[in-house]
Amino acid sequence: MAVPKRKTSPSKRNMRRSHHALVAESFQECPNCGELKQPHILCGHCGHYNGREILPVSA
Ligand SMILES: [Zn+2]
Repeated sequence: MAVPKRKTSPSKRNMRRSHHALVAESFQECPNCGELKQPHILCGHCGHYNGREILPVSA
């Protein structure tokens, strides 16, 4: 089995982790009902996406 020859230095370890930061979720207003929804994702409030009703509202 391949095994690393050297322990990863703190500098290299931190360079690798420089890409691990969390980013905040983005939100847009649904054009149909005005609730906040995630872009490119079906609206969880009214079930619309791209101007059409994809899921009927069952509430
Ligand atoms: Zn909606």
